Amino acid sequence: MIDVYLGLGSNLAEPSLQISRALEALAHLGQTTVLRCSSLYASRPMGPSDQPDYVNAVVHLQTLLTPVSLLAATQKIELQQGRVRKNEQWGPRTLDIDILLYGNEIINLPQLVVPHYGMKVREFVLYPLLEISPNLRLPDGENVTDVIKNCPLNGLCVLSCAPPF
Ligand code: AMP
Repeated sequence: MIDVYLGLGSNLAEPSLQISRALEALAHLGQTTVLRCSSLYASRPMGPSDQPDYVNAVVHLQTLLTPVSLLAATQKIELQQGRVRKNEQWGPRTLDIDILLYGNEIINLPQLVVPHYGMKVREFVLYPLLEISPNLRLPDGENVTDVIKNCPLNGLCVLSCAPPF
């Protein structure tokens, strides 16, 4: 089994509910076990500021799915929860699932880049990640505890404890 960390985000259609439903869907994926979910966090939107704040969480799971199969599965969950893909980067969305880490693998495919390109600068990734895996070391050898020192909270706050799954 490979240890995987996913970043979940939503800012439309009852975001906390979207995250809970996504977690349930992940828990029902074949060849996959969800181990832990962080608290739910409220964060400021990246990019266009005329959109609601986000709810974010990070999930730790173990899987036998390949990276590409896992991406297909997470994109299916996004679509099931009403995600409409537009050309607008960082626009509002019912559900976004990012593959942050897939074991220690470095993946550079046209459709999948892991570690996720934004994970080391995004407070809504690093703080939930630290909460559930304080001893985590990234594939480049850096510890999350060190990376987070350069990442201000930017208004991030805990909304509620982890949803059941
Ligand atoms: P987004 O608009 O943030 O959902 O971006 C989705 C696009 O990013 C999809 O076309 C994915 O194929 C691509 N992508 C590249 N790397 C990743 C990753 N690590 N996790 C999720 N999507 C990724």
